[in-house]
Amino acid sequence: MKTLTVIALSLLVFILPAAARSAGVTTVTWHGHAAFSVKTPGGALLLIDPWLTNPKNPAAEPLAAAVGADYILITHGHQDHVGDAIAIGKKTGARLIAQYEVGTLLKAKGFPARQAGMDTLMNIGGEIILADGEVRVAMVPALHSGGMSDAGGGFSYAGTPCGYVITVTGGPTVYHAGDTGYSAEMAAIGRLYRPDLALLPVGGHFNMTARAAAMAAKDLGAKWTVPMHFATFPLLAATPDEFVRETKKRGTTAVVLRPGQSLKLMGAKLVR
Ligand SMILES: [Zn+2]
Repeated sequence: MKTLTVIALSLLVFILPAAARSAGVTTVTWHGHAAFSVKTPGGALLLIDPWLTNPKNPAAEPLAAAVGADYILITHGHQDHVGDAIAIGKKTGARLIAQYEVGTLLKAKGFPARQAGMDTLMNIGGEIILADGEVRVAMVPALHSGGMSDAGGGFSYAGTPCGYVITVTGGPTVYHAGDTGYSAEMAAIGRLYRPDLALLPVGGHFNMTARAAAMAAKDLGAKWTVPMHFATFPLLAATPDEFVRETKKRGTTAVVLRPGQSLKLMGAKLVR
C-alpha cells in the first residue's frame, strides 16, 4: 500500500507540471511593424522579425537589458524584419531560426555563430522542435523578395522569404506570414496547420492589400487575425480599418492591437 502511494505521488510529480503547462497561457505581443513575441506556458520566449527599434514601438528603450529571447525567428533578409536580431542575439544568447542564407549572412555581420547552427537553420517545408518539445516551428512559403543589404550599398542573396507556423503544445497554433503577396499557399497552410491565430501584413505597397489579406484570412481558416505591417512608413496604409471591414464581409474576425499590446490564449481559446 505504502509502495502504491509512493508510486502515485511520484506520478503526480510528473503529471502535474505537464497539466499545469497545458492549461497555461500563451501570450502574443505586437511590438509594431512585423515584430511579435510569443511567450509559451512553459516560459519559452520566441521573437519574430525583431525590429524592436521601429518608430511605432512604445517601449522607451526596446533594447534595454530587460529584452529577453530564447529564439529569434527571421522571415527574410530585409532590414525592417531582421531589425535588431544581432544585438538581441548577443544580449540574450537566443538561438537563430532562419534559412541557411539569412543565417550565414547574419553570422558574417556578427550574430554569435554558436547560436546559429544547422539544428535551427532550416528551409521551407521543414519543421523543428524547440523548447524541450513544447514548441514546433514550421517554415512556410511567402511571396516576396529576399536580399540583405550590405555595407557597400548593395544586396546579398538571402534565400527565399518565408513565414512561420508556431504550434505550442496544449496552446495555440500561430501563423506569422512575414512579408507576402496573396497566394494559393494561404489555403495550403490552412489545410496543413489549421492556425488559430494569423498575423498578416495588411499595409499594401510591399505586400498584401487589406482586401487580399482578408481573403488570406478566410483561406487560412484562422479563428482570429491580427493585422501588422501598416502605418510604419507613409507608403503603407495608415490604419487597419479597411482590413477590419473586409474581414467582417467575409465572416472572419480581426483583432486590432496597438504596438505593445498582447493577446492571451488559454489553450487555443482567446482570453485577451
Ligand atoms: Zn520585405
